[in-house]
Amino acid sequence: MEHLFNSGGLLGYYIGIYFMTFLFGITIGSFLNVCIYRLPAGESLTKKNSHCMTCGAYIKWYDLIPVFSWLFLRGKCRACGSKISGRYILVESLTGILFAATFVRFDVIVDGLIYPALLCLFIAGLIVIGFEDYDTQEMTLGVLFYLTAVAAVARICSTLFPTTFRGNEVPLIDGIIGMFSVSVPFLIFGFVLTPLIYCFIISEDHKAARKIKRRLKKEKLNEKETERLQKTLDKHLEEIKETGPVYGFGMGDVILMAAGGLMLGWKATVVAAFIAIILGAVYALVLKLKAKHNDEEGVKAFAFGPFLVIGLVLASFFGTQLMDLYIDYLTVPQVPDYYIG
Ligand SMILES: [Zn+2]
Repeated sequence: MEHLFNSGGLLGYYIGIYFMTFLFGITIGSFLNVCIYRLPAGESLTKKNSHCMTCGAYIKWYDLIPVFSWLFLRGKCRACGSKISGRYILVESLTGILFAATFVRFDVIVDGLIYPALLCLFIAGLIVIGFEDYDTQEMTLGVLFYLTAVAAVARICSTLFPTTFRGNEVPLIDGIIGMFSVSVPFLIFGFVLTPLIYCFIISEDHKAARKIKRRLKKEKLNEKETERLQKTLDKHLEEIKETGPVYGFGMGDVILMAAGGLMLGWKATVVAAFIAIILGAVYALVLKLKAKHNDEEGVKAFAFGPFLVIGLVLASFFGTQLMDLYIDYLTVPQVPDYYIG
């Protein structure tokens, strides 16, 4: 970002570039809206024209201009006057702002266009994944593959043409370590530790089911008693099946963090995971307090993906630098020779 302050006569060019990037970003954002709504439903991205969710009227091209149309129509359908979700303008302006921020963070005139452009492509995928997960608690596999592909292209380009990647100091090895640095702990935590803890400590149904199984095995019971126990056991097993086994990281989170690691390197990805866990914990606490206030029981599982996305976006701007500062802070300075003797 230093380039803004010593840009000499170039400041005007830079501001022009940021403005163009913002406009380009909100256009992409309007496509991302389509992805967020259609991908989880398995609908085609290209076939149907956009239409009003309430009255079904097709939307004219001049009402499809990102951000501006929504503002001009004050968030209402031209045909029926029903409210259009604020989500559209949120996704569009968010994409525009993040694209522009990427170009502010990385100096395109000196360091080249390739990395900032690839990062924008990556952030676009992150936005889709984040909102999808928030809406449906699921991530589309296609978008996860897209993110992995963008990350792979970025690493290949940075290895083959290092001079065009001066703005992004992530060696290939850092990217490869990054693929596993967060995804593997998530995999272990989500698919081994959490189910174990849940089955053996938390779930009453698991406990009851285990007790019954033990009795059926060890004790000699008459036919009537066996039948009664079997019925209770079936009820518990049914309950276990319904409530789902785990509250933890899903496979989507694991793939997302592997792609993030390949794109940003292990340092930024670890920072991203920390940001996500802190934000997720705060959110869980708020939900808990809210549930207590409303006298509801327990907190339902919530999607963790949006927090990972926020973490990855923030870390893509300053994660590596933050981790380097932290490592410097941990490293005990050597006592210079001239102090000894
Ligand atoms: Zn309408």
